[in-house]
Amino acid sequence: MAGDFVFRESGGVTYLEVEPFQKTGLARCVFSTRKGGVSKGPYASLNLSTDVGDDLEAVKENRRRYIESAGLNEVIHMQPHQVHGANVIRPRMPFVPLNPGEAPEGAEQAAKRVWLTVGEADSIVTIDTGVVLHIMVADCVPVFLLDPVNGVVAVAHAGWRGVLQSIVPHTIASMENWFDTENDKVMVALGPSIGQCCYQVDKEVIDPLRMVYPFVEQFAKPDGPDHWRLDLRGLIRHSLEDFGVRPESIFVSEHCTACDQENFFSHRASGGKTGRMAASIMLTETE
Ligand SMILES: [Zn+2]
Repeated sequence: MAGDFVFRESGGVTYLEVEPFQKTGLARCVFSTRKGGVSKGPYASLNLSTDVGDDLEAVKENRRRYIESAGLNEVIHMQPHQVHGANVIRPRMPFVPLNPGEAPEGAEQAAKRVWLTVGEADSIVTIDTGVVLHIMVADCVPVFLLDPVNGVVAVAHAGWRGVLQSIVPHTIASMENWFDTENDKVMVALGPSIGQCCYQVDKEVIDPLRMVYPFVEQFAKPDGPDHWRLDLRGLIRHSLEDFGVRPESIFVSEHCTACDQENFFSHRASGGKTGRMAASIMLTETE
């Protein structure tokens, strides 16, 4: 529903808040837009990726603006090196955890902030507070997960290749193995991504998906010979319901990144040279 993903603006930066997660009081869960950064040309302006050819100093400044505006003011930020696979990682905190009274604040905190790339994976999970997890996307589906019972958060990158390899159920299964997450208790949000309106695919995509998801036709409108328009978010939602996630615990953004290039980067609509948005999640400190 549109009301589950709310645009907010702070310090010139626009981002989306995932309201159902926010309302639990357990997690911050946000998605950046392309507005409010300093990058130029195809990366204008809030590109958060260092892997797309943008000026690194600009990305550093964009990350600072995004983190501070969206209230993700932690010292440790982690993202996996994304490879369109189904690997799920649970990185250990890289440093001796800070005691609450020792946590730096303000300028001191900004000076100590680190943004780490931690292993090859397309999904990252934690039970630690004091760390923000990020995934980079521009059309692929950003998937946010929260287990409110056991205090577990995750964020995953789901393009069609990841969906083919069941990246989202794998993430929930990993949360279950590590932290006793139950499928019918987990909350899942599918963020802004390319919509069925703009996502034309061919047999190379549909044929392998059909092998794994016999119901794929429900989410693929014929669009000329050997072409379809794929509703990837709908396919993910259906697969999650089959996996035991409650329908009312799945929140799906209706924003299409290709239709709305004022707010979002779109790999497909830009012809490939563009920036990336971050899907970010963290556990909040609770007493
Ligand atoms: Zn569209």
